[in-house]
Amino acid sequence: MPWRWFVEHQTPYTSIIYKVKRIIYSGRTKYQQVDIIETYDLGLCLVLDGKVQSSTKDEWIYHESLVHPTLFTHPKPKNVLVIGGGEGATVREVLKHGCVEKVTMVDIDSEVVELSKMYLREMCDEVFEEPRLELIFGDGRRFIEESDRIFDVIVIDVTDPLSGGPSYLLYTKEFYEKLYKRLSGYGLVVTQATSTFYSLDCFSAIHNTLSKVFNIVRAAHVWVPSYASTWGFVIGSKKGDPTELDEEYLEKEIRDRNVENLRFYTPKTHKSLFILPPHIERRLKEEKKIIRDDQPIFMPA
Ligand code: SAM
Repeated sequence: MPWRWFVEHQTPYTSIIYKVKRIIYSGRTKYQQVDIIETYDLGLCLVLDGKVQSSTKDEWIYHESLVHPTLFTHPKPKNVLVIGGGEGATVREVLKHGCVEKVTMVDIDSEVVELSKMYLREMCDEVFEEPRLELIFGDGRRFIEESDRIFDVIVIDVTDPLSGGPSYLLYTKEFYEKLYKRLSGYGLVVTQATSTFYSLDCFSAIHNTLSKVFNIVRAAHVWVPSYASTWGFVIGSKKGDPTELDEEYLEKEIRDRNVENLRFYTPKTHKSLFILPPHIERRLKEEKKIIRDDQPIFMPA
């Protein structure tokens, strides 16, 4: 049988190829191309518009780094909003916090969720059957614009900002200003912020844009093998500072909130996420770009 290869373009000049064991699903939804493939080195992969979103071999590195530093910075998060999060792993991590009473997940693409339930149970487990979960299918930006609900933490886990893609208007100053009003007094937001290697300009623009809306903004990144890159996160906070949490507090909160089955996140890795090399620190300081609705930023496709 001729070998199949999946080619992921990081930039117009760099691509990564994975030998494919099995193509489990391939189709176009109303919003994006969806491929679910089994590879030799990454296990099962969810691929949207040609970009690996999650792979069973290492998705927990990304999802634990995305969720726990921010949730632990809030003293007692009860009401959490996840925008995007299709395959369910982000909600899985949020639900690990015993203090969380309700998670609302808003994803634009119901087919991605249905396909994840069908083929990616290794990632979503029983999340979609959890009574604490409210699942809404719709555009995350419109939800924020039309909702009068208040959340303790908002996690933005949408696809990278691609020209013509469904998510680029969730990286703008106007969106962050609307989102700010949906957060409680101690509220925080965290967003996936693309690669700190292949799209450092995008990462630093997201950081700079959030810093125009929140008075505490912190940048983090972690190596994610299936992204073949260090992957960035940016946290905006009304009061708490994730870089000021000490190991003792985190050990206690992990116990008190009964957070179990952590495979990457620990009080030590929490600290490591916020240690950025000098060239990235310098770039964040010098960044002038503010992402706006009429001046969006796009990842190199
Ligand atoms: N962790 C992945 C990453 O780093 O790119 C993203 C996780 S998840 C698969 C991305 C989800 O964002 C998809 O399920 C997609 O349907 C959803 N999405 C994209 N644009 C959206 C929008 N405007 N509103 C809500 N969900 C959106």
